[in-house]
Amino acid sequence: HETLDTALAEAWIRAAAAAVGRTEEQLTALDAAIGDGDHGSNLRRGFTAVLAALDDAGSDGSAGFDSAGALLRTVGSTLLAKVGGASGPLYGQAFRVAGAELPPDAGPAACADALAAGLAAVRALGGAEPGDKTMVDALAPAVDALRTAAAAGAALAGATAAAADAAEQGARATTPLQARRGRASYLGPRSVGHQDPGATSAALIVRALADAAAR
Ligand code: ADP
Ligand code: MG
Ligand code: MG
Repeated sequence: HETLDTALAEAWIRAAAAAVGRTEEQLTALDAAIGDGDHGSNLRRGFTAVLAALDDAGSDGSAGFDSAGALLRTVGSTLLAKVGGASGPLYGQAFRVAGAELPPDAGPAACADALAAGLAAVRALGGAEPGDKTMVDALAPAVDALRTAAAAGAALAGATAAAADAAEQGARATTPLQARRGRASYLGPRSVGHQDPGATSAALIVRALADAAAR
């Protein structure tokens, strides 16, 4: 895939849903350590509804989503409606805003701009700064890496792979941090020593984009 067209957007979201399904228990275990142990089940419920929405679109004989942006906006609305907890509104708003920002057939630079808009929405809604031990710690380095790769002229597959590497590194780097946002912040210093569940799932979602773009 050279651009984030409708087919790649659908492949991305289906890959993300599969990744959430595979890692539900791991995400829940991370959240059990520093939260309330529901992050895996929250996301599984959300992405199950997202898959149903994807299957629904076009099942009435219509052409389905007419753009990647429209598809991502539906992903966001579905997550907002179906996922309780902090992560539902945050991911929901991120996908809605990124989808609204995404032009048709976006290349790496336009993808970076759309992802940056999604990140800005997460930060506006949740108030988290980088280093607060949240999904922002995976998403912010992913946006930076995507921008840098785009500016260097990388193709979409390489640029999104760099973003996924940066997101995974950012998620791992949450382990020694003390949480300053979300439920984990209630633990104070006892939140140190555990990888943040939302940063972990954010890295999975960015990796799913890279995997889909490479095909
Ligand atoms: P809840 O904490 O309500 O049970 P989840 O378990 O689904 O919701 O999601 C927890 C994750 O949400 C955290 O690991 C963190 O990454 C993310 N999160 C929580 N609060 C915020 C916030 N204010 N800003 C950004 N991310 C947040
Ligand atoms: Mg939780
Ligand atoms: Mg909860």
